Amino acid sequence: MKNTTQSENRQTIALNLENFVHEVLVVSPGRINLIGEHIDYNGGHVLPAAINKQIKIYFRRNNTRRCNVWSKNFDNGYSFSIDAIGISDVEWENYILGVVHYIDQIYPGAIQGFDCIVESALPMGSGLSSSAALECGIATGLNTLFSIGLTKDQIIHLSRDAEHNYVGTKCGIMDQFTVVRGQKDHLILLDCQNLDYRMIHADIAPYQLVLLNSNVSHNLASSEYNNRRADCEAALAIIQEKHPEYKYLVDVPKEVLMSFEEELTPTMFDRASYVIQENKRTLMAAEALEKGKFEEFGNLLWESHHGLRYNYQVSCEELDFMVDFAKTQKGVLGARMMGGGFGGCTINMVHKDVVPSYTDAISKAYKKQFGIDLSPIEVSISDGVEVKK
Ligand code: ADP
Ligand code: MG
Repeated sequence: MKNTTQSENRQTIALNLENFVHEVLVVSPGRINLIGEHIDYNGGHVLPAAINKQIKIYFRRNNTRRCNVWSKNFDNGYSFSIDAIGISDVEWENYILGVVHYIDQIYPGAIQGFDCIVESALPMGSGLSSSAALECGIATGLNTLFSIGLTKDQIIHLSRDAEHNYVGTKCGIMDQFTVVRGQKDHLILLDCQNLDYRMIHADIAPYQLVLLNSNVSHNLASSEYNNRRADCEAALAIIQEKHPEYKYLVDVPKEVLMSFEEELTPTMFDRASYVIQENKRTLMAAEALEKGKFEEFGNLLWESHHGLRYNYQVSCEELDFMVDFAKTQKGVLGARMMGGGFGGCTINMVHKDVVPSYTDAISKAYKKQFGIDLSPIEVSISDGVEVKK
């Protein structure tokens, strides 16, 4: 990767869908995660699914050495030469630059000039992983447009590398994995240590999953995300001095962690406790769901939020208010913040008969408390990224 900025290479452009004849259209979904938050990068289990809120990306070759990208959502676009790819000062451009860079590393020369238009119905920065939808959508589209032959696993990993090294968010692998491998009506019980996974039929009737977007984002998400990851790595490194057998934080038994209370800082200890418990909760939640024990599942959601709020400390006033309110409502079995935190959505397990009254009541209470509209998002569990020619 060149550490120069893109300023010389970069140009602004405008593309218009009205007269754009595409060769490839990719539909790339966002994702939910029922439980297992912030533990993918700690080697834990997660329970995500792709959803029917998606980014559409239209592609065509242009027979030049330039790539022209337009985001309808930002009403903005840029152009870069394929021969001089580097990190941009404009954040969103890096999701695409990073993907192009890493594909070029795997198959040098495979990508030629292209035009593409991004049009999204997926809220950004709300914990629904518009970032992975964008990365994996771009990678999948270019793979088809230039018949490159990347495997799904390569697309998952290079998209993650783009986010790490071009955008600078040290995310785990869950988001990219889910966007690529999601299946309609199925949750993915994913072991993030080895990417072993099992599809679980998402049969939760008479309950429904309701997302409530707090419409706040506290701008801490990226920096605090990386701080949490660093806290966990530091805790693990101290534990590994005596116990090299534990490769990931989730592998450390509770008793072993307790014996390190003096050696870890209180913050590290809290982070590690959360991670170890959340991994257990995810496994219990998957089992409860498969056995139809929905109350048990719901209780694990409340506990997960409690841990995220007090031990992992990635929640915020607005999300806590929403979860506290949810607890007072009949027919709501469980709720928790979802995604990186500091804003974004809560995920709620709600009896179908009370969905309208619940969303109405919580929206009113939230507006009264914060003066902000809450956005309920109806989701269904859908397929992963797809090419529609
Ligand atoms: P999340 O993944 O939860 O939506 P992130 O902060 O990880 O939140 O990713 C959001 C970022 O992804 C946006 O700030 C933007 O840089 C990029 N992005 C997502 N969707 C689009 C889009 N339609 N056009 C341009 N950039 C986008
Ligand atoms: Mg993201």
